[in-house]
Amino acid sequence: MAEYNSTSTVAEEFINDKKIKETLAFAQAHKDDLELMHTILEKGREYNGLSYAEAATLLECEDPDIIQQIFDLGKEIKEHFYGNRIVMFAPLYLSNYCVNGCVYCPYHGQNKHIPRKKLTQEEIREEVIALQDMGHKRLAIEAGEHPTENPIEYILESIQTIYSIKHKNGAIRRVNVNIAATTVENYKKLKDAGIGTYILFQETYNKEAYEQLHPTGPKSDYAYHTEAMDRAMQAGIDDVGCGVLYGLNNYKYDFVGMLMHAHHLEKTYGCGPHTISVPRVRPADDIDPDTFDNGVPDDIFKRIVAVLRIAVPYTGMIMSTRESAKTRRECLEIGITQISGGSRTSVGGYVEELDEEGRFDAEETAQFDVEDRRTLGEVVDWLIDLGYVPSFCTACYREGRTGDRFMSLLKSGQIANCCQPNAMLTLKEFLMDYASEETKAKGDALINEKLSLIPSDKVREICRQHLEEIEQGHRDFRF
Ligand code: SF4
Ligand code: SF4
Repeated sequence: MAEYNSTSTVAEEFINDKKIKETLAFAQAHKDDLELMHTILEKGREYNGLSYAEAATLLECEDPDIIQQIFDLGKEIKEHFYGNRIVMFAPLYLSNYCVNGCVYCPYHGQNKHIPRKKLTQEEIREEVIALQDMGHKRLAIEAGEHPTENPIEYILESIQTIYSIKHKNGAIRRVNVNIAATTVENYKKLKDAGIGTYILFQETYNKEAYEQLHPTGPKSDYAYHTEAMDRAMQAGIDDVGCGVLYGLNNYKYDFVGMLMHAHHLEKTYGCGPHTISVPRVRPADDIDPDTFDNGVPDDIFKRIVAVLRIAVPYTGMIMSTRESAKTRRECLEIGITQISGGSRTSVGGYVEELDEEGRFDAEETAQFDVEDRRTLGEVVDWLIDLGYVPSFCTACYREGRTGDRFMSLLKSGQIANCCQPNAMLTLKEFLMDYASEETKAKGDALINEKLSLIPSDKVREICRQHLEEIEQGHRDFRF
C-alpha cells in the first residue's frame, strides 16, 4: 500500500488514500470538539491558511455557532485579500469531439446522438468577436480529448487566433486553457503560446471511484491524470487551476484530496494552485445528475466554499453559471472571487442566437445546463447593485506576475494597489463600450466611491488620470 509523501511525484503517494481516510476519521471523531474548532478558527484568523486536516475537521462540525463563524471568517478573508472585486470570464467551447468515456459528461465517446462540432478558425473568430462585443477580456477555452480532431496543434492555432482578434475596442487579453492531461512537451507549447492558467479538474480524487467514472479512453489512467499538474509545472506553467466535480463522489473525500493536491504543489514547486473551481454535477444530454447519489446540498456547498476560503486564502475561487444567481450571490460573499457571465456551454453557442438560418443547433451540444442564464451586462449590473466592482483585469499575467511572483504580491498586501485600480479601469472600459446607460451611471458612481479606497496617493492619482483618458477614448491601462 502506498505511503503518504507530499513531495513525491507519484499520484498515489501525494494523494494518499490511507492518509485521506485517516484524516476523515480524525475529523469525524472530533466533530463535537468545540475547543479544537475554536483553535482552528484562530489559526485561520492569521490569514495563512489551514492544513487539509484542519480544514476537514472544520467542515465536519455541525455546531451552528461554529458554522456562522466559518462564514464570517470566509467573508473577512475574502474582503482582506480581494476587497469587493469580482473577476469576470467566459468559457469558449472549441470542440466536443472526445474519445473518453466520462459517465457524467454528454461529450463521452459512446454518446452517438449528440451532434459533434469543432470550430474552424473562422468560426472561432466569429465567437470571439461575439464575446468581445459582450465585453469579455478573459476566456477559458474548453475542448474534448481527441487525438485527430483536437490535437495540440489545433489548440495552439486556436489560441493564436483568439489573441489576434481586435474588434472595435475589444481584445481577449488572457486565454486560460482547459484541455485533457498531456505531456510536458505539450505543456511547454501551451506556455509558449502565452496561456494564462492551465485548468484541469480532477473530477474525483478517489482512485476507485475515478476508475468507475472513467471506464474508457486515455483519461481512465488515474495516475496520468492526477500527475498532470506536476507535468504542467515542470514545463514552466506556474498558474494551474484545480477542482473536483462535486456530486460524483463523497464530497468529504474530494475536499481533502483537493487540499492535499494544493499542498503537494506548494511543497514541491513552491506555488499552490492559482485557482480552485467548485462545480457541481448538472443535467445534460444523456446525463441525469440523480444517477450519482453524492449530491451536495446547498448548505454543505456553502460551507465547502467558506472553509476553502479560510484554508487557501491566496487562491482565486471560481464559480460558473452552473449555479443559480442566488447561490452565486451567497458564495460571492463568503469566498468566490471569479465568476463567468453570459456563458454558453455549447460549441458555437455565442453566435448561435444571431443565426436565423437554422445552421447548427449549438444548444444541442451543451456540456451542461446553465442555471444562471443572464447576459454579461445583466450580471455586471447585478454585481454593481450588490456593491461589487466587476473586474475585467488581466494585468498580472501580462506583467509577468504569475506563479510565486503573483503569490508573494498577494501575500504582501500590495495587490490592493494593483487590483483595485485595475478593476476600476477595466470596469470603466466596460461601461464606456458595452454597458446600458443605466448600468453606466451606477458603475461610474461606484468607481467614484471606490477610488478613495486606493491606499497609495500616487496610484490613486494615476488611476484618476487613466479614468479620464478612458473617457477620452484611450484603452488598456494597467498597474
Ligand atoms: Fe471528454 Fe472532458 Fe467530457 Fe470527459 S469530461 S467526456 S474528457 S469532454
Ligand atoms: Fe488579478 Fe492581478 Fe488583476 Fe489583481 S491585478 S485582479 S490579481 S490580474
